[in-house]
Amino acid sequence: MWNRYLLFIKNICLATEENASPLDHWRDRLFVSGIAFLIPFCLIGLIPGLVMSYINNFIPLFIFDSIAFIVSVIVAFVPRIPLIVRKWAIFMVFYGIGAVLIFFIGNYGPGLMYLLSVSILMILFLPNNQAYISFFFNLATCIIFSLLIHFNLISSLPNLPKLDLVHWITVSSNLIFLSAMFSFLIPKLFSRLENSLREQVKLQEQLKKGTVKLKKSLVEVESKNKELEHFTFVVSHDLQEPLRMITGFLELLKIKYYGKLDEKANTYISYAVDGANRMRMLILDLSEYSRINKITDDPVLLNPQKILEDLQLTFQNEIQSKKAEITSESLKPFYGYPSFFSVLLQNLIANALKYSAPGRPPKIHLSMTHRGKDYLFELTDNGVGIEAEYFDKIFVLFQRLRKKNVGSGTGMGLAIVKKITDMLGGKIWVSSEVGKGSVFSFTLPIYQDVN
Ligand code: ADP
Repeated sequence: MWNRYLLFIKNICLATEENASPLDHWRDRLFVSGIAFLIPFCLIGLIPGLVMSYINNFIPLFIFDSIAFIVSVIVAFVPRIPLIVRKWAIFMVFYGIGAVLIFFIGNYGPGLMYLLSVSILMILFLPNNQAYISFFFNLATCIIFSLLIHFNLISSLPNLPKLDLVHWITVSSNLIFLSAMFSFLIPKLFSRLENSLREQVKLQEQLKKGTVKLKKSLVEVESKNKELEHFTFVVSHDLQEPLRMITGFLELLKIKYYGKLDEKANTYISYAVDGANRMRMLILDLSEYSRINKITDDPVLLNPQKILEDLQLTFQNEIQSKKAEITSESLKPFYGYPSFFSVLLQNLIANALKYSAPGRPPKIHLSMTHRGKDYLFELTDNGVGIEAEYFDKIFVLFQRLRKKNVGSGTGMGLAIVKKITDMLGGKIWVSSEVGKGSVFSFTLPIYQDVN
């Protein structure tokens, strides 16, 4: 109810306002809130005042209080009046009440208090460069009253002592001093406030512009990403069928005509079969890469030791033929995504086996560390190693080292690994020494038990 009333008054009073300065904007709002409070307060303060002035036969105050109430109602509820007119109407009403009170009940009444409060209101509601007006108004009021007293034109209420000039000047000079001080000090404070407000508005605008730009770029990147993912999926999916045909027929050609044609033809057929097989591997990897999209399920408790054991079975031929040894340390169950973790580890172990140093049985070691904020996994091997200049490049799609003869692959394994760690909110990096081996480190976030 109160909020609706406030909104109603704001809509009426602020409809015509437009101002450049943020401080003026807040001055206007403060004034309007003041008006909204003034109406109920007027009612509370005015009714006893009206009754008392009527009983005491104090008709001028009775009339002025009624005018004050009517003006306040007009200021609050009549639309299409410029805000500055509303402000001055209120100032004048306060001045009027102050003057009437001084005129009839002298300087010990609340008249001077009204004059002082109206100068504070003026400083609050008018722009900084108009703050001095209140001081001149008070000065003028005091001079006018001095003249009225001097020429004996003041008619105090019958049972009150008459105002005398010396007494009046002593008291009213305090009012002039106080309003001078206020009109000097408060605008200074306001101008500092205004500067910082301006600065804040400027920063907010810059931030807004930046956010809009960022949002636009994000939308663009997202749509490009989706397009790319769709393209990769379609290409890898649709190419599989014709490629299967090519490989199949090349195999048939090899079975049927190998050795029956000349040496050159045999070599060409072998190249063609190898090429087709490589392409098949590439497309399969690409389709796996495109399938790693987003996480849809909740993390579950997974056992890395068990996953490592399963992978040892997968790679048992390579392990046996290369006499490889796979060891582990501190592998503890944790909450994560078993399929992603398994693909990740599979690619790293495959590489560790593939890029083993000639004549040295591969030694592969997986460790896990709980670092408080995440888990750190490290897969160490004693393989051929990687030159420092390739530490970042190897994680990029289709990037292979220049030694094309070492190992055979598509250059996608580490790209898949990186995509998974990125998607899970982790990081991956490598450290290595050529000829000694490599350490692939990756982190995974710690999930709480979601069940
Ligand atoms: P691929 O193995 O199919 O070539 P990857 O993306 O898995 O592609 O690896 C990229 C390159 O990083 C590889 O070509 C290889 O040169 C290098 N590499 C990856 N793992 C190792 C490792 N454990 N030891 C040495 N070199 C590695």
